Amino acid sequence: MTGMTGAISPSAGGHHGLTDRLARWAKGLSGRTETEDDIAEGEEPQRARAGTAANREVVRRRQLYNDIGDFLFAHDLDLTPVNFSVALDYLTGANVGVEKAIKAVLMERGKITNGWVEALSAGQRADEVTPESLASMLDKVEENLTHFSGLMHESRNSAKDYGAALQEHAKDLTGEGDNEPVLARLVGLTRSMVEKTRQVEGQLRENQKQTQALKSSLENARRAAEHDHLTGLPNRRAFEGVLREELALAQENGEQLSVAFCDIDHFKVINDTHGHDTGDRVLKFVAGLLSKASDDRCHVARHGGEEFVMLFRGKTAGETCEAVDRVRQDLAGRSLVNRANGERMERVSFSAGVANVLAYEDPRAALKAADRALYLAKEHGRNRVYLAAEAD
Ligand code: GH3
Ligand code: MG
Ligand code: MG
Repeated sequence: MTGMTGAISPSAGGHHGLTDRLARWAKGLSGRTETEDDIAEGEEPQRARAGTAANREVVRRRQLYNDIGDFLFAHDLDLTPVNFSVALDYLTGANVGVEKAIKAVLMERGKITNGWVEALSAGQRADEVTPESLASMLDKVEENLTHFSGLMHESRNSAKDYGAALQEHAKDLTGEGDNEPVLARLVGLTRSMVEKTRQVEGQLRENQKQTQALKSSLENARRAAEHDHLTGLPNRRAFEGVLREELALAQENGEQLSVAFCDIDHFKVINDTHGHDTGDRVLKFVAGLLSKASDDRCHVARHGGEEFVMLFRGKTAGETCEAVDRVRQDLAGRSLVNRANGERMERVSFSAGVANVLAYEDPRAALKAADRALYLAKEHGRNRVYLAAEAD
């Protein structure tokens, strides 16, 4: 009887509580332990001899044990916990479903097989946790996961807290039954959620990095678009924005607003005499001097070529002329040296035209007036600052 020689192995897989049931049953049979070896053929357990009732019970169980062996042998079934349990259920009538199923197959084919018993047993197990109940439990878990993933955005709970909260929900869902498979699934889901959280956080970090990089390259592009590469001053385009803002502020606060165009005199000659690079250095030098005169109420920009524009808020046009003239004098008083060859350069100067922005219909008209005043300053000998007549 080959089936009986195999050890009872729990490795048949998927038999919930079967081993326990068998162990309990065997324990009852021996009256002491679950070790079947103690009940060898021909021996009588000590306790069985102690009383007739107990003896009868042992005989009855021994008979049942023999019947199970015969049953397994008759159908050439292996001695696995599953086969043992099904045989027990059938022979004791403990499970009506099993009894009915076996009777039906015996009627039909006269023999049952290992595979059939496994299938029958699987069907029995499925009854314990129905696919529907499992599905609805998992649906609830999925719902919770969605809920949690929403929460995750608000509060960044640690993975541990999250897992614990999920386990708590799992308890509510499954009660006190055989929860191992469901819990295992929940643990799996928790892990994958934690992993997803990590991925999402990783993506968020990556997104943040990219956004940051994009922001800084946009910032660089904006700076490049609004600043003059050579002198570092705001360019004409940026100046137009500053003019709009300063005009609004001046009107709001009832302050003065004046504009000055400053154009380097005979700059072409400087370039021609000392070269373009030296010309560039002169441009930077003049830009530096004008910048020194500026503050949060005075803005300087390179308007183009060797021409700069200044905007003064809080100063009258007359005061602006004085301020610009101080810079003009400063520059004209310097004796610049050409760094390229150490030679002293001829005096560098600029001419300027100033206008009161608020005296004109719009800022554009004021700029035109300042430009005309500049032209006149050039006309009248250069190295001077002219104030535009407001009647212009
Ligand atoms: P005026 O006193 O009438 O203003 O004479 P000017 O020579 O300064 O004026 P003009 O408009 O005839 O010449 C301006 C020169 O400035 C021509 C141009 O090559 C030079 N220039 C413009 N931008 C730059 C620059 O970025 N670097 C250098 N080195 N030269 C420049
Ligand atoms: Mg010039
Ligand atoms: Mg010019």
